[in-house]
Amino acid sequence: MSLFDKFQPMIDMRAELAEIGVMPFGPVTEKLFSATEGIVNGKHVILAGTNNYLGLTFNPDCISAAQQAVAEQGTGTTGSRMANGTFSDHLLLEQELADFFGVNHAIVFSTGYAATMGMSATLAGPGDVILLDADSHASIYDGVMLSGAEVIRFRHNDPADLDKRLRRLGERAKEALVIVEGIYSMGGDQSPLAEIAAVKRKYGCYLMVDEAHSLGMIGENGRGVAESEGVEADVDFIIGTFSKSLGAIGGYCVSNHPELEAIRFTVRSYIFTASSSPAVIASSRAALRIIKQQPELRTRLWDNANQLYDGLKALGLKVGPQASPVVAVTIEDRAQAISWWTQLFDLGVYVNLVVPPASPSVHSLLRCSVSAAYSSEQVEKIISAFTTLVNTTPVNNAG
Ligand code: PMP
Repeated sequence: MSLFDKFQPMIDMRAELAEIGVMPFGPVTEKLFSATEGIVNGKHVILAGTNNYLGLTFNPDCISAAQQAVAEQGTGTTGSRMANGTFSDHLLLEQELADFFGVNHAIVFSTGYAATMGMSATLAGPGDVILLDADSHASIYDGVMLSGAEVIRFRHNDPADLDKRLRRLGERAKEALVIVEGIYSMGGDQSPLAEIAAVKRKYGCYLMVDEAHSLGMIGENGRGVAESEGVEADVDFIIGTFSKSLGAIGGYCVSNHPELEAIRFTVRSYIFTASSSPAVIASSRAALRIIKQQPELRTRLWDNANQLYDGLKALGLKVGPQASPVVAVTIEDRAQAISWWTQLFDLGVYVNLVVPPASPSVHSLLRCSVSAAYSSEQVEKIISAFTTLVNTTPVNNAG
């Protein structure tokens, strides 16, 4: 058995795709015209697969905040938060996040992955139990594997299954950690968080929610699904990222537990990596202010999400159970998903292709994510590209 044998499936898949001239993994963005359009692999496309939900990557306030920070504080911090990498603006952003979520404590991490993986790896340890939704993001799976805790998966979005598994734990249930997401990154479906929180209250365990795909998008103040479901008081830890609605890069954890201040110095992805650069912190702070001050962005996002979801559903495509900023079309046949991805690209619409094992099931996904920055004509253009495909090749979703 050679060291490289385990990479053979990936080598084969890349060869298969290269043979048919498709390069869906890591296409190169060569030029950007705006948050919604650019030249990718030499083609002018609508960016329909980014997570630029509020379109803030080109917001003038975010750009000028980043420019000023880089001019005044330089291009990087060159050190970990725990050593020389904590600048006053990291602390200001932590305070602003805590204020935004109405809690006492916040940690800023260098990436969303560092936040979700690091918190999942650290909160529970050997002898503890973690229960996680089966469709959890890879960063959560990676973290819980590192934790050394006993890991139990419960059925996706199934509070009754969570209840059953907690019941089986007996006395241990009250110290268990439950991890779910607000909106699931691949399918775009929302967690039944009020019911999950009720189960949490019943057993007195701890609940952590990854709001990566809901910060700024859901809830009266944009605080996510915990806010919209009215259960913020039941959520012990909210984690998330700056790389989607805030249009930057970075991650956070907020909590009312005072222990978070000590926990931060035990999370390895906080300690052993350099802190976010001044430009990133400055643009994230500006974006958080915009989320607070411009609720109309949420309205635009949802108008666009509803238009896309309704349009694709009306074509008979298999989309998620509810309209969402992530509109994922399930295509059971992987070859057809690849072919459709290529045709959409040729029609000027660049979505994400997700094939197993990256997709949550054995099926493939054409994952569109919606932006508040789209005009309704752009949404119509995405729908019309799908219409062309539906009219030329029926979807093979027979199972
Ligand atoms: N959690 C979820 C649910 C995600 O979808 C992602 C990114 N796709 C992350 C965490 C990691 O965030 P980042 O890409 O900003 O590191």
